[in-house]
Amino acid sequence: MTGAGTPQDARTPGPAEALPSIAARIEAAAGGREVRLLAVSKTRTAAEIRRLAERCGQRHFGENYVQEAMAKRADLEDLPLVWHLIGHLQSNKCREAAETFDWIESIDREKLLAPLDRYRAPARGPLELLIQVNIDAEPSKSGCRPEQVGALASAIAGFPRLRLRGLMAIPAPGDPHRLAAAFAAMRRLFEALRRDHPTVDTLSMGMSEDFELAIAHGATEVRIGTALFGPRPPRAP
Ligand SMILES: *Cc1c(COP(=O)(O)O)cnc(C)c1O
Repeated sequence: MTGAGTPQDARTPGPAEALPSIAARIEAAAGGREVRLLAVSKTRTAAEIRRLAERCGQRHFGENYVQEAMAKRADLEDLPLVWHLIGHLQSNKCREAAETFDWIESIDREKLLAPLDRYRAPARGPLELLIQVNIDAEPSKSGCRPEQVGALASAIAGFPRLRLRGLMAIPAPGDPHRLAAAFAAMRRLFEALRRDHPTVDTLSMGMSEDFELAIAHGATEVRIGTALFGPRPPRAP
């Protein structure tokens, strides 16, 4: 007997089940543009990541903590995955970050650049960087101020093993008008940056709750955790 109401029907779908519908929503919002799905896998196990990669061909994964990502990357070395750091980067973690990640989306100060360049192995190719912008000027959040983007971008251009690819932001959720204004401000910054730096092609904004709005405002990458994997378990101590 199958039918609705059996315990099996009540089970939470896993990420492999959720991905096709999220991909379809991204595609519909993008209207023919290429928008990349970054699967945010913080707190998720290597086995969950493997399943999503093998069943759905998902390649790009976002992690918030350097140590956590190092362990997962080592477990999944056999898969052609691309690892993005989306959490705050401490200066004393630059070496591990340059060795572990393909992209770092949380560049918010010049001090990080020299150590990232120094520790990037030339054989790995350039480390792809996004400048994180604190677009709604929240004092508690990471990210540089919008008026600091130009100087930071020029500084990145001076390092041979670093490559500027664009901008990232985490606007405060909630009020849709404020959110839309923040996304629109990011798009203007992005267009201006692109005029000065030909390697810039990535605008990372939008999460589970607001990715369609972000895409409508020009996001080229959305970072999705909860909508893909379900609610996050508490972080292990
Ligand atoms: C956790 C996280 C996400 C994903 O958030 P969800 O709401 O779970 O989709 C995206 N970006 C950053 C920077 C994050 O820390």
